[in-house]
Amino acid sequence: MNTLNQQYEEKVRPCIDLIDSLRSLGVEKDLALPAIAVIGDQSSGKSSVLEALSGVALPRGSGIVTRCPLELKMKRQKSGEEWYGKISYQDHEEDIDDPADVEKKIKEAQNEMAGIGLGISDELISLEIASPDVPDLTLIDLPGIARVAVKGQPENIGDQIKRLISKFIKKQETISLVVVPCNVDIATTEALKMAQEVDPDGERTLGILTKPDLVDKGTEETVVDIVHNEVIHLKKGYMIVRCRGQKEITEKVSLTDAIEREEAFFKDHTFFNALYDDGHATIPKLAEKLTLELVHHIEKSLPRLEEQIEVKLAQTQAEMERYGSGPPTDAAERLTFLIDKVTAFNQDALNLTVGEELRCGEKLNVFSALRREFAKWRDLLDRSGDDFNVRIEKEVEQYEDKYRGRELPGFINYKTFEGMIKEQIKKLEEPAVRRLKDIGDIVRKVFIQLAHISFTGFPNLLKAVKAKIESIKQEKESTAEVTLRTQFKMELIVYTQDRTYSNSLSERKREEEDYEEMQLDSKATIQELMLHIKSYYRIASLRLADQIPLVIRYQMLQEMATDLQREMLQMLQDKGDLELLLKEDFDIGSKRAALQSRHKLLVLVLVISYILSSPPSYSKKLVRCKSAGYSGHFIWGLG
Ligand code: GDP
Ligand code: MG
Repeated sequence: MNTLNQQYEEKVRPCIDLIDSLRSLGVEKDLALPAIAVIGDQSSGKSSVLEALSGVALPRGSGIVTRCPLELKMKRQKSGEEWYGKISYQDHEEDIDDPADVEKKIKEAQNEMAGIGLGISDELISLEIASPDVPDLTLIDLPGIARVAVKGQPENIGDQIKRLISKFIKKQETISLVVVPCNVDIATTEALKMAQEVDPDGERTLGILTKPDLVDKGTEETVVDIVHNEVIHLKKGYMIVRCRGQKEITEKVSLTDAIEREEAFFKDHTFFNALYDDGHATIPKLAEKLTLELVHHIEKSLPRLEEQIEVKLAQTQAEMERYGSGPPTDAAERLTFLIDKVTAFNQDALNLTVGEELRCGEKLNVFSALRREFAKWRDLLDRSGDDFNVRIEKEVEQYEDKYRGRELPGFINYKTFEGMIKEQIKKLEEPAVRRLKDIGDIVRKVFIQLAHISFTGFPNLLKAVKAKIESIKQEKESTAEVTLRTQFKMELIVYTQDRTYSNSLSERKREEEDYEEMQLDSKATIQELMLHIKSYYRIASLRLADQIPLVIRYQMLQEMATDLQREMLQMLQDKGDLELLLKEDFDIGSKRAALQSRHKLLVLVLVISYILSSPPSYSKKLVRCKSAGYSGHFIWGLG
């Protein structure tokens, strides 16, 4: 097991497990776990540090070795499951069966992407590794910052690399490790400047000094000062580590042995043993520090998670209530149970038709849909009026032939007027009936939805109620249709109060700007006729705009609910049906159990989350946990 993983197991694992269970419950699907990126000059030891942390061998050596950003996604598997790896870049994707092949595959990928030689590429190589021995963590190895281009490299290679690096370290969930070898002047380090630019408060930047064995004799004390944060201050401070040098790699010193050698190196060092003693040195200590960072990151996201868990918990509770605890066994109690259920449904059916909040807690609203439908009806009336006007205007030319009787110019023919109005009103009848049917469907759907909510788990009861809804809807719809058609029959009587009509007429005259007393020719006559038609149509359409919705609302909502209530009560009378109606869904028991265990899990997760997060006072935490419904024991110590 590698060093970071050991730390991880103890401290981060509870947090990660918490988040895993949340994901399985549908909470926080995309909580970004932190990634650790290393930046620094070429050959400063970046890949070596990542390798020592993760236990995964990466291409490493002198010159530029890391030529593409490499994202190493580690996924922990349950113990016993097999190691697997997958490398992907551009459109290429390949499984890796043997951990020993990883290094070779990365080199191949780099050659593919950046060409054989010294070029670099912006494109990411992604390496996924699943093993019981790695933590859930992403590490990013980046090309080193080149100060000068060497032969065969583009002039601006330095800028290219910097742009690439900042793309990664900009991300809030990235922890940047700035790697600086002990044998260079830290003040001139470009990587440190870059990290400070994207993270000015140093919240997620850590300085890592490498190659302490290669330190210039005489500069050891400066190195100690740097690690003690006395030269260039970083909020998160510095660590110093020693990784395998080229010679040790050639000699095939294992990563485990390297850890021992590192410890011995610091312990024995005249200057650096102080850094070892105060916990600033070695890879295991670095792993410990990074782990704290990861825990910190997760802790920061806890409040948001808690909110989501609380919502889920409330939903689950509501659902549990809906499933209830099942019908009682005693015959008399069973009847009471059914009566209660039916009464609740009846109450909600009524609430639905008056637009009041439902007792079942569900948000069903029929009025918004109805309003939309009624607005469509109103629009149709307006449009139909406009079409009408256009049509008559077109017919002006034929007026003489088509409509004019024996009257002298200037007289409009009342029969013509009446005929045109009737023709127009008739056109509205079928659309009105269609509206009724559409609304009937909407209402039926909402009632059926309510039935589903109210009688979950009782298929026979639900079936009986659905049949009732269906038949009452049919009946109400035909009654409403008769009323609508009668209304249209009445509308064929051209009538309104005199005063209403003359008001409408003078209003229209005012509206028609170009209306003026004209010569008494046929054009003037038709204009006069149109004025009358428009005046009347406005009155009739206002009447219909209200009347049709009133009929529909009365029959399809009010009457429907009343009839449904009556029939439901009648159903209760029939005692023989009682057993049939209360027969439960065969899988209701398992549904109830699933809900209960989900509820338990959510409470537990919430409790863990409360314990891990602030406020730190135990008594406050205790109160929160109890109020979430937790009745178990507490062992304080976590968090
Ligand atoms: P990168 O280019 O920043 O990724 O650097 P590498 O990790 O590839 O390391 C460059 C060279 O430095 C390799 O040959 C490593 O073996 C060597 N190296 C890394 N860390 C140390 C160290 O602590 N001491 C010594 N002596 N050599 C090291
Ligand atoms: Mg490297």
